[in-house]
Amino acid sequence: MIPLAKPYLTVEEARAAYDTILSGWITQGPRVQEFEEKFATYTGAPYAVAVSNCTTALHLSMIVAGVGPMDEVICPSLSYIATANAIKYVGATPVFADVLKTSNNLDPVETEKKITSKTKAILLVHQLGMPADIEAFQELCGKYRLQLIEDAACAAGSQYKNKKIGSHSELVCFSFHPRKVISTGDGGMITTNRKDYYERLKLLRQHGMSVNDRVRHEADKLIFEEYLEVGYNYRMTDIQAAVGIHQLEKLDWIVKERRKIAAIYDEAFRHIPGVILPREEAGFYSNYQSYSVYLSKDFLIDRNTLMQGLLDAGIASRRGVMTIHREKAYKQSEQDVLPVSEDVNDRSIILPLFVPMAPEEVQQVVDVFLRLISPVPVSTEVGP
Ligand SMILES: *Cc1c(COP(=O)(O)O)cnc(C)c1O
Repeated sequence: MIPLAKPYLTVEEARAAYDTILSGWITQGPRVQEFEEKFATYTGAPYAVAVSNCTTALHLSMIVAGVGPMDEVICPSLSYIATANAIKYVGATPVFADVLKTSNNLDPVETEKKITSKTKAILLVHQLGMPADIEAFQELCGKYRLQLIEDAACAAGSQYKNKKIGSHSELVCFSFHPRKVISTGDGGMITTNRKDYYERLKLLRQHGMSVNDRVRHEADKLIFEEYLEVGYNYRMTDIQAAVGIHQLEKLDWIVKERRKIAAIYDEAFRHIPGVILPREEAGFYSNYQSYSVYLSKDFLIDRNTLMQGLLDAGIASRRGVMTIHREKAYKQSEQDVLPVSEDVNDRSIILPLFVPMAPEEVQQVVDVFLRLISPVPVSTEVGP
C-alpha cells in the first residue's frame, strides 16, 4: 500500500525526545525557546511564539489583532475547517470568498467584493503549501485598513518573492501536525514582526501569567507571578520542541525532495487534456505539502471512480480540499455562492507525496493514474 503522506522522523528526533524527558524539564522551557529562536531565524521573522497547534495559533492571532463580536473576517471556504473555527472562537463571523482554480488560494477580486464596514481582517490561507499572492492582499488591507493574518498551516518552507513564508506580515500561523511538512506530533508557531503582538502572545498562551515558569524556576530572588488578563493554556511542550528543532534542520531538504516528486508528477500529467496541475507562478515557491490534481467536467473518468481504482491498486488518495460552507457546522448560517471552491472540492484528487518516496512508488502512482484515465484499457498482455 502506498500511503498518502508520512512524516519524516528519524532516530535524531527520537533521541531528542528521550534526552528531553530525562532532562527533568518537559513542558515549555529551554527547548521551546530554542525552537522559537531557530524558527524566527529560519523564516526571517523578528519573533516566533510556539503554541500547542495551528488552531490555537489562529485563535491567539485573532485576539491580538483585536477581532471580536460584530467583526467579519474574510477567509476561503476551501480550507481546513480550523481556519473558520478560529474566527468563530472570538465571536466574529467568517465571510467566505471564492478561490482561484489554479492555486486553490483566495481570489483578490472576489475578496474585495466581500469587504464591508464590518470587515476587520483577511485570513489568507496558503493552501496545500502553495503561497497566496501576499502583496495583492497587503494592498487590499492597506486600502481598507484591515489586519492581514496568514494561515500558513501547510506552508512551512514555502517562499513568496524569494522570502520564506512567515516573514511577510504581522501574524503568520504554522502547524506541525503529522500531515504537514514537518511535525512535532501536534504543534504550532506564530511569527510576527510586532513586539507588542509578541509580548501579548506569550502572555495569552500561558494563562496570562506575567512571568513564565522557567524564569521563576531559575531566579535567585523570590518572584511572584501576576495574571494580567484571562489567558489560555496553549503551550507547546519541550519534548515536542526538541523534536521540532531537528525537524526544522531538515526542512529545506524535505522541501527539495518533495519538489522533485512534484516535478515528476508535473511532467507525467501536464499534457493530459482537462487536467489542471498546481501552478507555481514566477516568484512563488511551494513546499508541495500536498499535490492536488483537478479533473475537468468532461474528463473520461469521474473522480471517485478514479480514487477507487487507485485504492484497488494499493494507492491511497484523498478528495480535494474541503469546503467549510457545505459542512453541517456552518451550513445553516451561511448562504454562500462559491462555485470555484465547490468545483475544486468536487473534482480534485490529492495524490501520495512523502519523503522518502521510492522512485518505484512515484512511478507506480503515475502508471496507475495514466492507466485509469486512458480511454481504452491498456493491455498488459504480451501478444503471441
Ligand atoms: C492543518 C490545518 C490547520 C490546523 O492545524 P492544527 O495544527 O491541526 O491545528 C489550519 N488551517 C489549515 C489550512 C490547515 O491545513
